[in-house]
Amino acid sequence: PDGHIAELVTRLVRDVPDWPTPGVVFKDISPLLADAAAFAAVVTDVARRAREAGATLVAGIEARGFVLAAPAAVAAGAGFLPVRKAGKLPGRTLRRDYALEYGTASVELQPEVVRPGQRVLLVDDVLATGGTAQAACELLTEAGAQLVGLHVLLELSFLGGRGRLGVVPVTTSAVA
Ligand code: AMP
Repeated sequence: PDGHIAELVTRLVRDVPDWPTPGVVFKDISPLLADAAAFAAVVTDVARRAREAGATLVAGIEARGFVLAAPAAVAAGAGFLPVRKAGKLPGRTLRRDYALEYGTASVELQPEVVRPGQRVLLVDDVLATGGTAQAACELLTEAGAQLVGLHVLLELSFLGGRGRLGVVPVTTSAVA
């Protein structure tokens, strides 16, 4: 863990209590994205992790994962792969449905975009219960990727999401 990045995330990610529903503390990364030096430092850090893991594709989870994964992919000399909410991607897609506290959600990707055995780093902003990341990891594996890890800006460790990700190496910029 990089102390400088952890300090930026801790200082610039804003807590929004009771949003979107009562009892949830939403971690808002917008202040960090709006700070040019902090955004660059975070993206550079994700890019370094992608390079060191030998990733040739950086996958981002819609929507805030895109904001981190796409510039990191460019900086790492890798491609970018969107993992999207269901119904957004054209052509053949793979889909995973997963349980939320209330109801279900679904994510999809386009398997043709992944080369067999291609090394992929998955990126998102926040790891909460881990359901979203778990579904995305399963999709990437089903698409034939070699998943080299999941990197999140902020892990809400009290929710235990890491425990759902099995053997996938999980790295974080900061932990709350
Ligand atoms: P989960 O599937 O519970 O791990 O939720 C992770 C996904 O939902 C990520 O894509 C996050 O962007 C979003 N998310 C969940 N909880 C929060 C939170 N407290 N603050 C910000 N984003 C969250």
